[in-house]
Order: sequence, then C-alpha cells, then structure tokens
Amino acid sequence: MGIKDPLPIGLVAEYVFCPRSAWLAYAAGAFQHNEFTVEGEILHRRVHGKGRGKRPGKRQWRRVPLYSYRLGLAGYADLVEEVDGQYFPVEYKRGQLRSSISDKVQVCLQGLCLEEMLRQPIETGYIYYAGSRRRLEVGLAGPLRRLALKSLKEVRELLRHPHPPPGRLAAKCTGCAQREACMPEGPPQAERFRWEDWLP
Ligand code: SF4
Repeated sequence: MGIKDPLPIGLVAEYVFCPRSAWLAYAAGAFQHNEFTVEGEILHRRVHGKGRGKRPGKRQWRRVPLYSYRLGLAGYADLVEEVDGQYFPVEYKRGQLRSSISDKVQVCLQGLCLEEMLRQPIETGYIYYAGSRRRLEVGLAGPLRRLALKSLKEVRELLRHPHPPPGRLAAKCTGCAQREACMPEGPPQAERFRWEDWLP
C-alpha cells in the first residue's frame, strides 16, 4: 500500500485506542457520532478556522495536510508551529489533560509525516487539551515511535480480516462512538451466532 491508497493517521490512533473500534469504524463503516466526537469536531473547526498565525518568536499553520510516501500514510495536523527553524505538530483534543497513548501515537505519526515532507528530524510534538487549556509535550523518538510504526503495520493486517477482533467491556467503552455496533455487554464473542455456519 503506497500513497495512492494511504492509511489515515486517525485510523492508526483509533487502532491503538481499541482494534475493534478501528475495524468497526473504518472497515465496516459503522462510525456514528456521539456527544464526545461532536464536541471534538466543533473544537477542530474552531481551531482550523483561525487561519495562519504569527506570534512573537513563532509561526503557525492550521489544518496542514500531511503525507508520507514511505509509510503510506496521510492525514492532517491541527496546527504546525515553527520556532527557530524547528517544526512541531500540535494536536487538539477535547477534555482534560491526560496521558493517552492513542493521542501520543497520533501526534507521533504526524511528526513522521512532517519529517518526510520537510526533510528534517521532528523530535517533539504537543497535544493541547481544551478542557484544561494546557499542552502536553510529547517526545516523538524511542519507544513511542516504535509503537507507532508497529501499530501502522498491524492496522494493515487488521483491515484484511473479514470480522472484527473481539471486544471486552472496559472503562474506555464509555466514550466510544462504536459502542452500539460493538455491543461489548453482549455474550462472549466465541458464543455469538455466526451466520456463516447457517449457509448451505
Ligand atoms: S465499545 Fe469498547 S470494546 Fe467496543 S469498540 Fe468501543 S472501546 Fe472497543
């Protein structure tokens, strides 16, 4: 898979959040907005609508299209900042400041795309949590980069599967947009009805 058929950055981040959610949303097209995704959408529109900016000591670009031919990846950065010739992706999220590995993978993949586009190392990114009005600094090298690249590979495998991976009711299900399609409260996956078994 190359840039003609790139994977969305958001899909890889969703996979890190929950592989079942990623499959339901992107392979089955079961994505449905809920109150959290709508709030996130409104936040992003507000951020993107501000246009290009300049603050003392830094330049800013909003809703920047990103791609990597090498990785077969594409998406957007909510904001790209430049300070002293160094560029940083900034991802905006609803809610309070938190340590979310899927958010970190998302900003790491944005950094990988920027590296290829600008031909310079991108070692730091930021996640701005609107509920706290604070930024989390994220180091994009080392284990996070390895996890992001491993997840990217695993997502390609996931999309080849005709069935979603099993899901299990967990705290993260509370805000999940795929909850209705997933039904994590249902019987264990292995006991569920398989319509294939009833075909002649
Ligand atoms: S409801 Fe829970 S298990 Fe189901 S897709 Fe969402 S996060 Fe995953």
